Amino acid sequence: MTARFLEGGVAPPAGRIRLTVRQSDRYARQLLLPEIGGAGQERLAASRVLVVGLGGLGCPASTYLAAAGVGTLGLMDGDQVELSNLHRQVLYRPEDLGRSKEASAGRSLLELNPEIHLVTHPGRLTATNAREVVRGYHVVVAACDNHAARYVLNDACVRAALPLVDASVRRFEGRLALYCPGSGCLRCLFPQPPEADEVGGLAAMQGILGPLPGIMGCLEALEVLKVLLGLGRPLSDRLLLFNGLTGEQRLLKRTRNPACPVCGNRPTPARRAEDQIFAGPDPQARRPAMQRIEILEIGPEEAWREMQARPEIQVVDVRDPESYLASHVPGARSIPLAGLPRRVGELDSSRPVYVFCMKGKRSLEGARILLDQGFSEVFTVARGTEGWKELGLPLES
Ligand SMILES: [Zn+2]
Repeated sequence: MTARFLEGGVAPPAGRIRLTVRQSDRYARQLLLPEIGGAGQERLAASRVLVVGLGGLGCPASTYLAAAGVGTLGLMDGDQVELSNLHRQVLYRPEDLGRSKEASAGRSLLELNPEIHLVTHPGRLTATNAREVVRGYHVVVAACDNHAARYVLNDACVRAALPLVDASVRRFEGRLALYCPGSGCLRCLFPQPPEADEVGGLAAMQGILGPLPGIMGCLEALEVLKVLLGLGRPLSDRLLLFNGLTGEQRLLKRTRNPACPVCGNRPTPARRAEDQIFAGPDPQARRPAMQRIEILEIGPEEAWREMQARPEIQVVDVRDPESYLASHVPGARSIPLAGLPRRVGELDSSRPVYVFCMKGKRSLEGARILLDQGFSEVFTVARGTEGWKELGLPLES
């Protein structure tokens, strides 16, 4: 079956799956929603969703999709259950230790809802098998704990024209995006994955509190149901940020990047882009080192609006002190880049930080220093103070 994404939802699966009396009872509370009703439930029953990664994100995502009656769930992970998983990977029990996650998750999901079909994909997702794995699904969920798998999945979904719901967590921050054909992809935001030695359970190694991936996994399930049912406004043009410490949720506008190596106007040939994921960044490529981790950029106008509305935002100017004294954006604190590592303590890591430099290049390095020190919400301001001036935004001296 070839799945095609249509505006407002996925193409209705071929054939019609009639609900039994028992199914009508099971789903009674969601059938009551007029936006779903019997037709929506039948559509869910005929839907096929793939969940890649059955950890802190994939456990809640697959649980809610199974419970909602998504007819076919594909499961892929490749890891075994470990004791340190149990505080957040809520599908597993102590007796599952050492067993494969697909098999253990599959058993739990079928206990919850024996009416659904499961397809397990043994082994790990690779650049070689990804296109075959995603074939036939209507929506794919990236719930991976490593960047390599997310990028492989992103590339495979772009090429198969499949919607991809992607979430990630880092310390106390969660991110969620929906990439649909034509709406841009993960690489539009972050063209390259991190270096090979950073890949693999990175978020978990920095520590994680179970409810945060729980929330983000539930948001992934919700987004999948919206896409399958054509409900509400999908997140296809925005990036959602959730701060677990403050409870704040923010939406940033997101667009397709015409220079994207995968979904842009002149995509890189498939083999090369995918090989680089596992080989690490191309040593020939002259990319600044800062691109290796995910750093968010914000436009000057949006930054100014946010700075006025949210006094908790800390603004840091990493230019030299003379430039700062000549003029700077209102409320900015001067911490020249060279001194930032030892002055990090002057900033509050639980609050957002906007980093300015002259043109928007050195601020990437500043943002990287802050992210390495455990800050979770760090933005560089596009085009720096130069861009700010050009737009006529206010300056202080
Ligand atoms: Zn893209």
